[in-house]
Amino acid sequence: MKKIIFFILTVLLVVACNEGNKKASGLGLDTGIEKRIDSIMAQMTLEEKVGQMAQFTLDVIGKGGNVYFSDEPFEIDPAMLDTVIGKYKVGSILNTANNRARTTEVWEKTVQAIQERALAETGIPVLYGIDAIHGTTYTAGSTLFPQGVGMAASFNLDLMKEGSRITAYETRASNIPWTFAPTMDLGRDARWSRQWESYGEDSYLNAQMGLASTLGFQGDDRNSVGSHRIAACVKHYMGYGVPVSGKDRTPALISESELREKYFEPFRTSIVEGGALSLMVNSGIINGVSTHADYRLLTEWVKEDLAFDGVIVTDWADVQNLLSRDRIATDYKGAVKTAINVGIDLVMEPYNLAFCPTLVELVEEGEVPMKRIDDAVRRVLRLKFRLGLFERPYWSRSEYPDFGSSESEAVAKTAADEAITLLKNENNILPLPANARILVTGPNAHSMRTLNGGWSYSWQGEKTEEFAQDYNTIYEALQNKFGATNVRYEPGVTYKMDGQYYEENPPEIGKAVAAAAGVDYIVLCVGENSYCETPGNLDELVLSENQTALALALQKTEKPVILVLNEGRPRLIRKIEPDSKAVLQLYLPGNFGGDALADILAGDVNPSGKLPYTYPKFEHGLITYDHKPSQNIDGKMEGAYDYGAQTSVQYPFGFGLSYTIFEYANLAVSKKDFVSGDLLTVTVDVKNTGTVAGKEAVLLFSSDMVASLSPDVRRLRAFEKISLEPGETKTVMLQLAADDLAFVNEKGEWTLEAGEFKLQAGDQIAMIHCAETRVWDTPNR
Ligand code: BGC
Repeated sequence: MKKIIFFILTVLLVVACNEGNKKASGLGLDTGIEKRIDSIMAQMTLEEKVGQMAQFTLDVIGKGGNVYFSDEPFEIDPAMLDTVIGKYKVGSILNTANNRARTTEVWEKTVQAIQERALAETGIPVLYGIDAIHGTTYTAGSTLFPQGVGMAASFNLDLMKEGSRITAYETRASNIPWTFAPTMDLGRDARWSRQWESYGEDSYLNAQMGLASTLGFQGDDRNSVGSHRIAACVKHYMGYGVPVSGKDRTPALISESELREKYFEPFRTSIVEGGALSLMVNSGIINGVSTHADYRLLTEWVKEDLAFDGVIVTDWADVQNLLSRDRIATDYKGAVKTAINVGIDLVMEPYNLAFCPTLVELVEEGEVPMKRIDDAVRRVLRLKFRLGLFERPYWSRSEYPDFGSSESEAVAKTAADEAITLLKNENNILPLPANARILVTGPNAHSMRTLNGGWSYSWQGEKTEEFAQDYNTIYEALQNKFGATNVRYEPGVTYKMDGQYYEENPPEIGKAVAAAAGVDYIVLCVGENSYCETPGNLDELVLSENQTALALALQKTEKPVILVLNEGRPRLIRKIEPDSKAVLQLYLPGNFGGDALADILAGDVNPSGKLPYTYPKFEHGLITYDHKPSQNIDGKMEGAYDYGAQTSVQYPFGFGLSYTIFEYANLAVSKKDFVSGDLLTVTVDVKNTGTVAGKEAVLLFSSDMVASLSPDVRRLRAFEKISLEPGETKTVMLQLAADDLAFVNEKGEWTLEAGEFKLQAGDQIAMIHCAETRVWDTPNR
């Protein structure tokens, strides 16, 4: 069979090359690729087809240990390769070995060995996938950017796209053509341990950032992504980020209206506008249905309604989880049957080789239709063609001289500059004078691990110090900036680096207080140690007791405290915020976070980040900016019902200060009266009235004044980041489709209702009017 495939491939390659511009353009299929798939599939056995639907983790084929661990230095075990690829014809591998980043050299050797075996066995290259999350996570020397939440805070789509382009290049330099990113889960619950992986709480912001990232990864031709681009995998479809309990992988309850209007939109946008080539399924349960068993959400909403022609992949072991965790199957066979029949194409198993014979058996017994297998295999092969793997299944790392280049690192530094968000600056205490004497303290002051967070050189980020030696912690960056003799370090509180992420060593607060004598400023760096997924679950959102005590003790010294937050999710700071003179949110800014902070503290960079989520004040006051009017009643109700219903927040969504002042004027809309289908052009003048240059993210919000379903108080509809010199004015033009103002009604239908809408940018307001109601009769606008 393999020889026949090689022959057919050669012939078809010639044919395909001759076809030239007959290629289907844009988002459609490439007829040349489809024909090549036809010929391959005509030759494939059932076992070979099922193999293409299976994905195992690298440790399974590593020498030594067992399937969970490999010996070091890592080497492929030829005997296991015989089993996995020889016997089961497996078509996809993921992950690194022993949860550790590898050099591009090791990657090249590893992938080459896998591909050679696969080609010799089936003639079909293996699809290697990896979590390249904020850069190429598992490759030593790669460029690490701010995590998703920080990229969102930059409100800079060009930076997002460029960061993903660089990540694509560096992932290819590692011989890997597929990433499990971008993550667009909507971080709407501050308690959730993966809040930092996606782009904050807003649907539109997630959609735009996710789209920019998808295009950065894949480039413009999804049928031929080229040797510098990789396939994106939009995840985790969908509603994963709002578990009722706040704990990872637990059930969510989401109204039909919100599901389509908010959670689906980022996925729809990346698939329809960006041509995302794959999608990963949410591990959890929505409205009682395990997403890995949800025909409606997977097949109907994605494959049918969006005409999605890419691959739907499970999350880690989630077919097994239908049995052992969700208990919706009595045995493994039942779980496999359910998952494949609802529309899953590729199963990230990742250890259980029984998957292959089980699925073969199900097909032979007629429990899984052959049509479904053929659909899945076609999608997997299509992705391999689109990635060019049939032409070049592996390559030389020497073709990627710009891996980890200083140009790429400069982009990561700019991204950190633009992410960091200034939340308080009492009496303009910042920037600090050049000769400031500083105590830098707190558990996050001298750690590359905390700057990067999870998905950095390992899953939980615990190996970062080993790999990120060449970069500056906050302490080191401040020494470089303000002079070594002016900067003193005494942590006061430290994390237990070999413990759980939330464990701390016995505090030494007295030492930090003593070290404050003789300095002018205290830069107190608090937050969280690195974590990821379920190990990052928490019981209380408030900042740890030790860190809170450290802050209060330092504030008593009467030295001005500059509070620096370095955290994956907003830990509550209401007790220590009032007496902090300045507050800066770093999020998880990556390897250049320390340098970016130093530049901001010194005034060499003017901060321009804005919060991509609502910073809560109380554990029982979690709210998003796009809440319903009833969630925040200002004033009192009538008669006996004499109460307000306020939810206090620490800082609102979109909040962020600058060292300069931006004044907004002349908000104008091209059409005051509009109907469905109209395009509205909104213009607003923004002037820098301060004395230093600055960048400003101009955000346009809308409010539906009255609607048949209680409307959200505000929604972000467009944004643009601009730069202004002192005294300079720019007219910002934002496009808004009238249909973007629609909402989804309780029956799940998109609806644009006649009536008044308010538009707002800065302090500028304009009222516009929709002349007639429209209800869409298709699932998507
Ligand atoms: C995570 C995914 C990730 C996958 C593969 C899972 O545990 O939920 O986000 O892509 O592992 O590493």
